[in-house]
Amino acid sequence: PPIMTVRNLSLHYGDKQALDDVSFDLYSNEILAFIGPSGCGKSTALKCLNRMHDDTRGVRTCGTILMEGEDINGPDVDPPLHRRRFGWVAQKPNPFPTSIYENVAYAARLHGLTPNRQALKEHVKQCLSRAGLWDEVEEHLYKKSGTDLSGGQQQRLCIARALATQPDVLLMDEPTGSIDPIATARIEDLLLELKQDQAIVIITHSMAQARRIADRVAYFHLGKLLEVQDTEAMFTAP
Ligand code: ADP
Ligand code: ADP
Repeated sequence: PPIMTVRNLSLHYGDKQALDDVSFDLYSNEILAFIGPSGCGKSTALKCLNRMHDDTRGVRTCGTILMEGEDINGPDVDPPLHRRRFGWVAQKPNPFPTSIYENVAYAARLHGLTPNRQALKEHVKQCLSRAGLWDEVEEHLYKKSGTDLSGGQQQRLCIARALATQPDVLLMDEPTGSIDPIATARIEDLLLELKQDQAIVIITHSMAQARRIADRVAYFHLGKLLEVQDTEAMFTAP
């Protein structure tokens, strides 16, 4: 069964309709890519999944988003609690200006994962390893700040930070949109590994990227989700 089921989701920012009757399913262990021209509602749809749109004033939604049988688009959901099940990665790497260790440890603590010191250390190491960064940062874990790393490393640190809450779903808004091609390929490889453990929804403007890593592609246009296709089918001529 799907991990999330979105049905007839519509959203208005004041008078402006940003999503119009959007429906799709999200499965665990898949990468679902959102594509489409800018302004078509991709970010908005992504934010609805973790109730981030609540933070914008004047937003109204209707429709349902089922997650384990619960309608998380309804009024009974506590957004901060709900958000723990998600990791978020933005387009521009935005590590905290604290030590590399603290970037991940802070996220774990913030979300109430506060085991003893040793267990926290292990957890941070595991998140950094899963983000493919441990070997590069181990020796200056406490000395270097997150902002001292290269762009690609910063983004992998942000991925490690997003993994700190042991999320069911990773939400990524053009995560390779501002890094170089080699660092991009590295992150694409990483996502193919990470999807073994959780669902990933990724906004991308790169068809090559969608083709390379996505299992399915959702095509948005003017706030509507026109079609969700298997990547294979999408890139194979009929
Ligand atoms: P995309 O991610 O595909 O570029 P967005 O979801 O960011 O699209 O935006 C969808 C539409 O909603 C756009 O027309 C955008 O201008 C509008 N929009 C996005 N955020 C807001 C906001 N906070 N207030 C008003 N309109 C917004
Ligand atoms: P931008 O369009 O420049 O990415 P946004 O308004 O989308 O800016 O986001 C502002 C900040 O909030 C960013 O630092 C982003 O990382 C964070 N953010 C946005 N959406 C979410 C979300 N759904 N979950 C967690 N953090 C988010």
